[in-house]
Amino acid sequence: MSNSNHPIQITPNFSYREMTRSETASRNGIKNIPNQAELANIKYTANQLEKIRSYLNQKYQRPIGIIVTSCFRNETVNRLVGGSKTSAHRYGLAADCDATGFTSRAFAKEIIEMRDKGLIAFDQLILEFPSRGDGAWVHIGFKKDGRNQRNQILTAVKRGGKTVYLQGLQAGAK
Ligand SMILES: [Zn+2]
Repeated sequence: MSNSNHPIQITPNFSYREMTRSETASRNGIKNIPNQAELANIKYTANQLEKIRSYLNQKYQRPIGIIVTSCFRNETVNRLVGGSKTSAHRYGLAADCDATGFTSRAFAKEIIEMRDKGLIAFDQLILEFPSRGDGAWVHIGFKKDGRNQRNQILTAVKRGGKTVYLQGLQAGAK
């Protein structure tokens, strides 16, 4: 399928490639291409990431980059990565990300601070596997059109090989 119609940039600092790339897709020769509605969702997500980026840049008076490792997953990719059928990634409404110069925990705390100041609303913020250090990441998910966001904060940990979600940002969670 030809896909020359997608934009190069979704927003000034987030590219189409960054928001749709998937190692699983490329390894399996799958094209991870959003439809128009999904593309609109990706843009919504990228706009939220822009808000976070400019908040951090202003607060720390230095350029801070936000690195997105996964945003949109089409049905096949989502199945291959073992994502839930209702995963916000499936619709382009979630990003797995980190900020340059921040631990995942510190980055998550900044987003929560933004929420407390009324600068952002999210459906789910998950600190994913903080005990992994550099292998940790922050999942931020949104509801479409920004309505009915649950503002849920969770920490994902492995317990006996299974992923368990604990309420809140857990200090020292292994
Ligand atoms: Zn995620």
